[in-house]
Amino acid sequence: MLERAFRDMPDRVATLPRNDRGFPIPYFAEEVNGVRDFRVVSASRMAHAVRNELCWVCGGRLGKYKAFVIGPMCGINRTISDPPSHRDCAIFSARNCPFLSSPLARRRETGLPDAAQEAPGFGLKRNPGAVGVWVTLDYRPFRAPSGNQGILFRIGDPTEVLWFASGEPADRFAVVESVRTGLPSLIELAEAQGDGAIKALAACIDDFEKYLPEARL
Ligand SMILES: [Zn+2]
Repeated sequence: MLERAFRDMPDRVATLPRNDRGFPIPYFAEEVNGVRDFRVVSASRMAHAVRNELCWVCGGRLGKYKAFVIGPMCGINRTISDPPSHRDCAIFSARNCPFLSSPLARRRETGLPDAAQEAPGFGLKRNPGAVGVWVTLDYRPFRAPSGNQGILFRIGDPTEVLWFASGEPADRFAVVESVRTGLPSLIELAEAQGDGAIKALAACIDDFEKYLPEARL
């Protein structure tokens, strides 16, 4: 097993088992052929976490603040496929998860078991570049639209939003760039749904701007 050191690792993450590359194995990872696979979300763990308000990263009980690790598009449409985590667990994931923290990383799609379905809804299959930690008191699970299985989460107004890119705090430019490259997919979806959806999306984009990092000159 590879020894790997992490900065600012929360105690509750430090108690998780590690994989052979030295990464702590998050609560949600499904066991595939005897190995916990980070790319595969366990449906049974999802149900258990949602029912019992458990952290998606460490599996511990959540407090009143819920932190969602999001891409900017999720902040715009307020919808995400992963349930909430502790704030410190979410920050640790945003900074250290090999997929989330590195804009150049690509999701490995090889060797996925057949049962590893796409995220419900319309998860955009891209690395978002900038990763947000959206802390809120208010969220609600709902069933994914027909044609998809599973549940999605509607996230309420945040008490705080933190942004990271490549494991470090992200500046406004990095987040705006991530929005710019991700928006065409959201616009396409809205266009397919008609004028009402396009207007609603425009309002969401306006509303989202206040959650961007401040510009520094
Ligand atoms: Zn946690």
